[in-house]
Amino acid sequence: MTLRLTNTLGAKVEEFTPIEPGHVRMYSCGPTVYGPAHVGNFRAFLLGDLARRYLEWSGFRVTWVMNITDVDDRIIRDLQAGGVALDELTAPHIARFMTDMDDLRVGPPTHLTRATEHIPEMASLIATLLEKDHAYRTDDGSIFFRISSWPAYGMLAKLDPQGSRVGDRVAADDYGKENVRDFALWKGPKPGEPTWPSEIGEGRPGWHIECSAMSMKCLGQSFDIHTGGVDLIFPHHENEIAQSEAATGKPFVNVWLHNAHLVLSGVKMARRVGNISRPAEVYEDGYSPAMLRYALIATHYRAPMEWGDETMGHARAAVERLSTAVTALESYEQEKDDDPRLDEALEVARDEFRAAMDDDLNVSGALGALFELVRDLNRRVDSRTLSTADARRAAAAVRDFDRVLAVLDEPQQLPEGAQALLDERAAARTGRDFAASDRLRDELAAMGVTVEDTRDGQRWRAGGRPADD
Ligand SMILES: [Zn+2]
Repeated sequence: MTLRLTNTLGAKVEEFTPIEPGHVRMYSCGPTVYGPAHVGNFRAFLLGDLARRYLEWSGFRVTWVMNITDVDDRIIRDLQAGGVALDELTAPHIARFMTDMDDLRVGPPTHLTRATEHIPEMASLIATLLEKDHAYRTDDGSIFFRISSWPAYGMLAKLDPQGSRVGDRVAADDYGKENVRDFALWKGPKPGEPTWPSEIGEGRPGWHIECSAMSMKCLGQSFDIHTGGVDLIFPHHENEIAQSEAATGKPFVNVWLHNAHLVLSGVKMARRVGNISRPAEVYEDGYSPAMLRYALIATHYRAPMEWGDETMGHARAAVERLSTAVTALESYEQEKDDDPRLDEALEVARDEFRAAMDDDLNVSGALGALFELVRDLNRRVDSRTLSTADARRAAAAVRDFDRVLAVLDEPQQLPEGAQALLDERAAARTGRDFAASDRLRDELAAMGVTVEDTRDGQRWRAGGRPADD
């Protein structure tokens, strides 16, 4: 079985083979930093992360690039309203984004590239398009892509050749365009707007050009996978293909992956609609980042995901079921022979997990295989048919699936010296020396280790706040 992906370009499921054997090069459209990203935005970023993690799990090396759009019309609008410098305006939003990404265990991408740090690369790409006559200048110093020079335009979005859909909205300053469909590569200088000097003159980049310039700089002129939300297919990704391929004469991207929207009562979550939830608000309601991550990856990326009252409740139950099972396996002790049938169960689960993920990243199928295994392992723990070594092997298998899912916390570590105290306490209890046992429990609590006595012996939990004396 090999990985099969639904390629928007050609609208079919294809077997995935990277251009360079063993190495996958992937680009994901990132955030525009004029406010905090909402959970719908993170669904898109998590598609890139999930693909990267699964490709790595499957043995590929992955170079993953994401951009940060830190100059565009909306940012400039806020800039003019706020009377602050561009960097000052975007810095807190970028910091917020990095924290959210970290909390949700996204990436980090191999390269996280900012538009304002790649103006020369964009200008040089535009210069090539001018040379090849795929672009033209207007009186105000702007530069547009000439769509009539590129017959393949519309290949991704499947536009009719007459081009009944119009790309950019026609702003007052765009009237110099030869054709209403042509899109801005570069915008001439205007009072009150940030501009950069460049080989093509003074101005600022249009939005689409940044993704072509930065992806090709980091990944080469042709690369394997490009991801983004379905709303980016047209015009953004269509324009990326046109300007990249017109400049290089080579195929830009082999596989285009697009995730469906997050919807709230049937309406797409979007800032302009005002129906958004932000990660911080989800955490305020008592859910962990791992639970939000689970909620956002558990629905297949191509299916619209309903963001409802039950979404986070289901995610909480699932993450807790997984982590309880792993904790039970990692603290399980039983002296007995290994169970010869355990490895077979682990192998079957692994095959099913892989088959589901290979089928166009079918996470729900993969989760089905995982939870089936967890049910089986819980039964084995309850009936104490596993040896200590079996339990550790089973825990490692579940943690291996979690390299893709990334919803479990790190295994609990005992602080130094705690194991000796636990052993001493176990001996004290066997000898019915309860005074010593209680004293040792207090000593462990002071180290942040909570001990509980069960019929199978003591169980510990680490990572709590060390008790005050
Ligand atoms: Zn983009």
